[in-house]
Order: sequence, then C-alpha cells, then structure tokens
Amino acid sequence: MPAYQAPLRDFDFVLNELIKVQDIIPTLPGYEEATQDIFSSYLEAAAQFCQSELAPLNRQGDEEGCQFDPATKSVTTPPGFKEAYQQYCELGFPALDCDPAYGGQGMPKSLAFPIMEMQCSANVAWSMYPGLSHGAYSAIHAHGTEQQKAEYLPKLVDGSWTGTMCLTEPHCGTDLGLLKSKAEPNGDGSYSITGTKIFISAGEHDLAQNIVHLVLARLPDAPRDVKGISLFIVPKFLADGSRNAVSCGSLEHKMGIKANATAVINLDNAKGWLIGEPNKGLSCMFTMMNAARLGCGMQGLGIGEASFQGALAYARERLQMRALTGAKCPDKAADPIIVHPDVRRMLLTQKAYTEAGRALTALLALQLDIEAKHPDAAAREDAADLVALLTPVAKAFMTDNGYTAANMGMQVFGGHGFIREWGMEQLVRDCRISQIYEGTNGIQAIDLLGRKVLLDQGAKLRKFTKLIHTFCKANEGNDKLAEFTGPLARLMKEVGEITMSIGMASLQNKDEAGAAASDYLRLIGHLAYAWLWARMAEVAYARLGNGEDAFYQAKIATARFYYAKLLPEAEALKISIKSGAKPLMSLEDEHFAF
Ligand SMILES: Cc1cc2nc3c(=O)[nH]c(=O)nc-3n(C[C@H](O)[C@H](O)[C@H](O)COP(=O)(O)OP(=O)(O)OC[C@H]3O[C@@H](n4cnc5c(N)ncnc54)[C@H](O)[C@@H]3O)c2cc1C
Repeated sequence: MPAYQAPLRDFDFVLNELIKVQDIIPTLPGYEEATQDIFSSYLEAAAQFCQSELAPLNRQGDEEGCQFDPATKSVTTPPGFKEAYQQYCELGFPALDCDPAYGGQGMPKSLAFPIMEMQCSANVAWSMYPGLSHGAYSAIHAHGTEQQKAEYLPKLVDGSWTGTMCLTEPHCGTDLGLLKSKAEPNGDGSYSITGTKIFISAGEHDLAQNIVHLVLARLPDAPRDVKGISLFIVPKFLADGSRNAVSCGSLEHKMGIKANATAVINLDNAKGWLIGEPNKGLSCMFTMMNAARLGCGMQGLGIGEASFQGALAYARERLQMRALTGAKCPDKAADPIIVHPDVRRMLLTQKAYTEAGRALTALLALQLDIEAKHPDAAAREDAADLVALLTPVAKAFMTDNGYTAANMGMQVFGGHGFIREWGMEQLVRDCRISQIYEGTNGIQAIDLLGRKVLLDQGAKLRKFTKLIHTFCKANEGNDKLAEFTGPLARLMKEVGEITMSIGMASLQNKDEAGAAASDYLRLIGHLAYAWLWARMAEVAYARLGNGEDAFYQAKIATARFYYAKLLPEAEALKISIKSGAKPLMSLEDEHFAF
C-alpha cells in the first residue's frame, strides 16, 4: 500500500469552497483567531504528523497488538506508540479544541474534525487513545464541579492523563438499564465502586501517567432501570499518588484495532466521585457519546480514504487483461486494471462515499461550533437540532459506507488484498468495529427514526429538508444542475411522505418503526449525500476556468456517478420500507431453524 497522503486539497475545498467555514467561524465569539491561515497551518502540521509518525506505525501495531502482563496488570502498547503520543502532546494537539480556561487552545470543531479524520486514516487504533480522552474531557467539562474541572481537565488537556468510557458490562451493552456495578457512599463525598466493565477502549496502557475512567454505576436504592444510573470519575491513581482499586483484568483478542487496548476493567471498592446529579448518569454520558458517535463516523470516513488511496495506486500499476474497447497501453504486457469498468465502479464508490462523508462532517462540525458559540439562541437551537438529527446518520451511514469502501479497496487488490503485507485487509478488519460500538448501527437507526424524527413529529427533519428545499429553489433555473436538483427534490418529497406513513403505521404497531429504521437511516443518509453532491457540483461548475479544471471536473463526474450508481439504492430502500413489519415478524421464533 502507498504511504498515506492527507487529502489537504479536498479539505480546502470542503471547508473553504463548499461549507465556507470562514464566513462564520471568525465571527463567533471566542473563534476570532481561527482564520483561514490558522486552519491551514494546523492542517499542514497535522498532516505531517499523521503521514510521518502515525501511518508508519499502523501495520506493526496490527501485527504486535498490545501486550498484557497479568502479574503487574499492566499493558504495553506496540513499539512507537508511546513516542508518537508524546510528540502529539508536545505539538499541543490534545488541547486543540479545549477550553482555554483549562489550558486549551480554544479552536473550533471545524478544525478538529479534519484532523481527527487524518488520524483515523493513518492509524485508527492509535487515534482512539486521544479520542477517548477527549470524550472524558467533554463530559467533565459539561457536568463536573469546579473542583473536578480544576483537578482533571488541565491534565486531560495537556495529554499527561488519558480517559475512558466505562459503560458496558458482560450482560449488557445496548441495554444499560441492566447494569449492575454499584456505588456506595463513603460519607466523605467519595463513593466505593464495585463491578466489572468489559470492552473498555484504551482501558489500560503505558502512554500516560494516569487514566481517568468515567464509570456508570448504581447508587443504593436507585431505580432499577436507566433512571437509576449515575456517573463517576474513577482515576487509576488518586490525588496522593496511591493506586486506586481499579485494574485491568485482561485484554480482549479481537478482529481489528489490535493496537488499541480493549480491556476488562475490574473495580473492587475503587474510590470514585459523582459527576452531575445522582441517577442522571446516562444523560451526562451522552455528552461524551454524541461526540464519540461522530468520532466513530469519522473512523469509517478515515479508513475509507486510506483504502481508496491504496486501491487507486494499485489500480494504476497492476496490469491485467486489455480494456474491452481495445488496448490502452499497447507497449505494456497488459493494461492497468483502472481501465476496467468494474474496477472503476469500486474506486468511484470509495471516492463518492468518502468525499460526501467529508462534506457531511464539515457541515456537522460547523453546526457544533454554531451551537456552542453563536450569540443568537435561535441559531444555536437550529444548529443543535441539525446535529441531533444527523449524528446517528453520520455514525451509521459513514461507518457502513466506510466498511463498503474498505472492502472494495481490498477487492481491487484481488488475491493480494487478502494477504496481510499489503495492509488492505487490516483496513477492513479495523473498520468493522465502527459499525458496532458507540451503539450499534441498528440502534442508531432506532434513535434516528424513533427519538429524532417521530418523537417531535418531524420538526427536526423539516428543518433539514428546508435547507434542501432552499437549495433546489435557488437553482430552479440552473440547467447544469437540473440532473441533480430534479432527483433530489423528488427524494426529499418522498422522504416526507414515507416518514408520515411510518409514523401512522407505528401508531397501530410499534414494530413498524423498528422494522423500517435501518432502511430509513440509509434513506436519510442518501438524501444528505445527494444534497451535498449537488452542492459540490454547483461549486465545481462555478469554479471551472480558474486554472484547476481537472479537480472541479472530477467533482462533477463523481457527483454524476453518485446519482447514477449509488443513489438508486434509495428506490430499493423505499420499497423495503413500504413492505412494513410483517415480512420480519410473521415467522414464529421457533420456526427460524426450519
Ligand atoms: C473493540 C470494542 C471496543 C469497545 N469500547 C467500548 C468502550 O470504550 N466503552 C464501553 O462502555 N463499551 C465499549 N464497547 C462495547 C460496545 O459499545 C458494545 O459492544 C455495543 O454497544 C453493543 O453492545 P453488546 O455487545 O452488549 O450487544 P447487545 O446489546 O447484546 O446487542 C446484540 C445485538 O442486538 C441488537 N439489539 C439490542 N437491542 C436492540 C433493540 N432494542 N432493537 C434492535 N436491536 C437490538 C444490537 O443492535 C446487536 O446487533 C466496545 C466493544 C468492542 C467490541
């Protein structure tokens, strides 16, 4: 596989030509210094770090994984991981979008997101160590007391401590209402926490001086369901330097992200402190999980990009057979496989999903920045609604498409894709978990349709479709865009009708919404990507003739590919949604085996 090259030109296109972050970001209080020059210098520094430090560690990290020593219960990360983490901290990256009051640099998410994408492309397993820390930072920043913030945030911000998110237990992942970990008050403001957490990413390692575990547990006499869960800070080392009773029991042996330590964490009367209000732990944790869900979507995006780069280089070099229309390279023994329509189908699928995913994340990052800083409450609310609606879409659609892209990248390599040394099968394995954790993609679909769309009678959805409607209206007389705006406007209208019919059907039978959810999420994902591809084509047409025609023509051609070859999936999704719950629910449970 070729060395990873950060797609800086495409970041520039998405940020400055499509989403136009510079029209808004420097006008937001606190982001005045986040100018285009600042963006460029950070992106270049991050690209350099990801290309030269992280990417070269990726294969060895996969081969060697993390090592657990049962005697000391310690974990050693693969060679080079610690040094790369140290350098990352010295460069100030953990502080990038953190609050200056705690040592942060106060930069917007619009800058942090592309940097996260680069890390995921270069080395997704490594990227999870700082990723989880940032989640812990966000939860403490949003819900901690002043004392907790003063104690923990500066260390998470400078990277000397890392964080984790401890939700899952052996008997429960999706249904956290079942969790059993207990927290007994000690009478001095602290709690004794006992329980077993499994699958804890970055749960134990040698990168940092301390690990701040954020743990969900139940107070005595708490309600038995999700309303009885509280959130606690449980540091590996206490303030006096002594070891807390929280330890790694073992590491999981897993399909991918082998260089990230997925730990069993045992809490044995570990000392912890409540964050937020008693029994409100799950909503506090959601601060962290929403950001983590977008981060997870970015894993699909980043891996899709890495796989595309590998597949494209290979398709240009690998010589097999002649083009169907006659030899393209008669001086060679055969033509490069990029001449074959089926290989181009795979490359273009990777390219179309990846570039649209990059546009979607830039759009969402800007909404997060507006939500955080805009002086106008209505603008903040609109931004928050768009983020709430599209977070499950970004998580599930981008990881499903990332997995498709990684799988196609491997296919472009033929048999060599299946061989480890090329690195393409690692991308497939590393990507697969992104469809499962942070709430499976099935659960994202239920969240989208149930909570985000039906619960508010489509109010958030209408805000989203209004943006699409405005775009189509503004381009009504634009003949060049008609091939995009026509199908886009039709799809938008059909989504409204389908949403209504699912809502009506689910009033009679709740299974109707459950049965439609996964198809519905993909449908909304396609609506978002179709809108973004139409917008990208609009920008590209406007820029033709400015000296970079090849770049913009590629955008227009990829938009056409998306509409011709990927968007038709929406037709099948609509038919499947309309078939309702019956085809899924009519087979008796005990008849599945026949
Ligand atoms: C490598 C790795 C890293 C992880 N990192 C962390 C971490 O850092 N912290 C942490 O707390 N957890 C972590 N997890 C756990 C992860 O978030 C859970 O595995 C995931 O949320 C699913 O939970 P589960 O495995 O218990 O599956 P289950 O909840 O048992 O689900 C099994 C299947 O049933 C489906 N299902 C369940 N309920 C419903 C429903 N109501 N409707 C429709 N379908 C349903 C699910 O979609 C899934 O397909 C990690 C897991 C792995 C493998």
